[in-house]
Amino acid sequence: MRLIFLGPPGAGKGTQSERLLRYLRIPHLSTGDMLRSAIAGRTPEGAKAEEYMSAGQLVPDPIILDMVGARLEQPDCAAGALFDGFPRTLGQAQALDDYLQSHGRPLDLVLELRVPDEAVIKRLSGRGRTDDRPEVIAERLRAYWSQTRPLTDYYTQRGLLETIDGIGSPDEVFERIKNAVDKRRGSGPRRSPPSSR
Ligand code: ADP
Repeated sequence: MRLIFLGPPGAGKGTQSERLLRYLRIPHLSTGDMLRSAIAGRTPEGAKAEEYMSAGQLVPDPIILDMVGARLEQPDCAAGALFDGFPRTLGQAQALDDYLQSHGRPLDLVLELRVPDEAVIKRLSGRGRTDDRPEVIAERLRAYWSQTRPLTDYYTQRGLLETIDGIGSPDEVFERIKNAVDKRRGSGPRRSPPSSR
């Protein structure tokens, strides 16, 4: 299965993608994680990306697309992928579509985790990452609403979008996600095997 996880920073994508990965057993493609590891590895792309990330702005598409393209070439991605934090711009979405189409690997589902800004700000303030300072959070939210949120229309038009209410306990939210995923797989909710007679 190939799916995209969309949602503002602090919506709980991290917690929920961990669960979803365990449930679906597919590779995790988190561009945020890739970028942080490029920074830690002191690569030239990492240094460039850090300038944008520390300001709460999106890293330019070419850097992101090279990184994701390289990852998608690895054999494990043939079986599926959870795209987390990617695509974040219309350009990235179109590039991903082109790639997947030319490889005969269509997208199955786009999950939008919806959480109001006030809740996001409260959640992020407790996290302690360097880009979680209030001014940077505000900028990241602006970037989300102006550049990433428009992707929901793009994927609605393609019949791929499912919006998930991100308010509730992690278990409650995951239940909603699981339902959306199961519906798309056409398998219905998973049941435990019938008890033996
Ligand atoms: P969050 O969802 O909390 O913002 P991420 O780890 O997904 O956390 O992203 C952290 C930062 O990395 C973003 O603010 C942005 O600067 C950069 N980034 C991550 N993914 C992308 C992407 N697909 N396109 C552009 N910038 C990205």
